[in-house]
Amino acid sequence: MSQHFDAIIIGTGQAGPSLAARFAAAGMAVAIIERDKFGGTCVNTGCTPTKTLVASAYAAHVARRGGEYGFVVNGDVRVDIKRAKARKDEIVERTSRGVEEGLRALKNCRVIQGHARFQSPSAVVVNDEVLEADKVFINVGGRASIPAIKGIHDAPFFTNSSMMDVDFLPQHLVIVGGSYVGLEFAQIFRRFGSEVTIVEMAPRLIGREDEDVSEAVREIMEIEGIQIRRSATCISLAKRESLIAVGVECVEAPPEVLGTHLLLAVGRTPNTNDLGLDLAGVATDESGYIIVDDQLQTNVPGIWALGDCNGRGAFTHTAYNDYEIVADNLLNADHRRVSDRIQTYALFTDPPLGRCGMTDAEIRKSGRPALVAKRPMSQVTRAVEKGETHGFIKISVDAETKQILGAAILGTGGDEVIHVLLDIMYAKAPYTVVQRAMHIHPTVAEYLPTVLSKLEAFA
Ligand SMILES: Cc1cc2nc3c(=O)[nH]c(=O)nc-3n(C[C@H](O)[C@H](O)[C@H](O)COP(=O)(O)OP(=O)(O)OC[C@H]3O[C@@H](n4cnc5c(N)ncnc54)[C@H](O)[C@@H]3O)c2cc1C
Repeated sequence: MSQHFDAIIIGTGQAGPSLAARFAAAGMAVAIIERDKFGGTCVNTGCTPTKTLVASAYAAHVARRGGEYGFVVNGDVRVDIKRAKARKDEIVERTSRGVEEGLRALKNCRVIQGHARFQSPSAVVVNDEVLEADKVFINVGGRASIPAIKGIHDAPFFTNSSMMDVDFLPQHLVIVGGSYVGLEFAQIFRRFGSEVTIVEMAPRLIGREDEDVSEAVREIMEIEGIQIRRSATCISLAKRESLIAVGVECVEAPPEVLGTHLLLAVGRTPNTNDLGLDLAGVATDESGYIIVDDQLQTNVPGIWALGDCNGRGAFTHTAYNDYEIVADNLLNADHRRVSDRIQTYALFTDPPLGRCGMTDAEIRKSGRPALVAKRPMSQVTRAVEKGETHGFIKISVDAETKQILGAAILGTGGDEVIHVLLDIMYAKAPYTVVQRAMHIHPTVAEYLPTVLSKLEAFA
């Protein structure tokens, strides 16, 4: 016996729950399946817990700089990691519970806990029960990649998921991977009091970013005492009594970094290997990402893939935007497309990096006639007043159409201020709209018109 639904949703990450709510409200019979914690990566092991820990680390950092701000802290500022973790756990559990309770409160929606696998294009098995539906939506997300590096089975390591259980201070945390996830954890644990070393294979950190961004982030990390080993071309792992050795070069006697604990932060793998996609005939690429069209339909009619598992985005906001695209297209006969969205994201170090549009390399490759302007945060009044002057604002525009091509705001408030530029890009308005706008003083955003008045030829 199988039960029939209008829609089956696999996964309760950043697209599934909202989709279930919209479908259920439209009178559709929905089943949503979750094999682990409600809310998925972002809520349980990604955005929410890391940003909660970033907040604890920031508070400790500011307290340590008390003298600069004119107050006295009696004794050392020491982070009680058990309490920082408890704060994090409380926020995570509340959010995850909210997702579960929200789903269970929906009329027309059955919530099932278990691992879902396709049996055919329209049938999914969970806990030995067969569910059938006209439409199936895959929102299975991803997990930390475990690379096949030498010694991987010999040394214990953490991933972003298992780091969530750490309630002690690692004496020396070695982080393999100097990109978004690795950098956030590096600064968190350095500020908590650990010695931290980042080992990065590439010649620079966050290699997808502009070189000046990578360089400025490296400086920010090093000022705080984080060790960085770049161009680690041949990473290997070994256990040395109570320590973990991370080999960082391919030479005869490989220099090593010795640490007490190891975090692997080297990318993500989609959760598509145990979904029975072959039985449904759903095509994936060579990395396991489900291939979708501009409206997020797979090659099989009636099956859609949303969020990290489709390889069209790696963020909560891209997963949520996937939900909006699918729901509006199906329920409102809209024509929303993935290609209509503009690249944007943040790196939540302190200071954060807010990004939108093209990188310098992408602008160069596009061949568009570009102008660029840059201003250090040390010349932004609000940053000076706050005592947070690291970083810069950089904006590139098209010299002919006057449209903003891309921007990087590495500095205090950069993750918020970037939206001014992003929304102008969505409006397809010229940069002169921002240039002539009157902004509030003293804010970081008030400098956007000033920066845009100093555009020069793009090198
Ligand atoms: C450390 C870290 C920090 C991050 N910080 C940010 C940030 O600050 N901002 C941001 O935008 N993004 C951030 N991200 C990325 C963000 O977490 C993901 O992009 C987002 O969670 C993707 O959502 P999703 O819906 O695609 O999948 P997920 O959130 O991964 O959810 C997928 C769900 O599907 C379930 N599932 C999988 N397979 C099955 C199955 N077969 N049957 C039933 N259920 C299944 C999983 O258990 C999971 O609950 C971060 C990621 C990490 C790792």
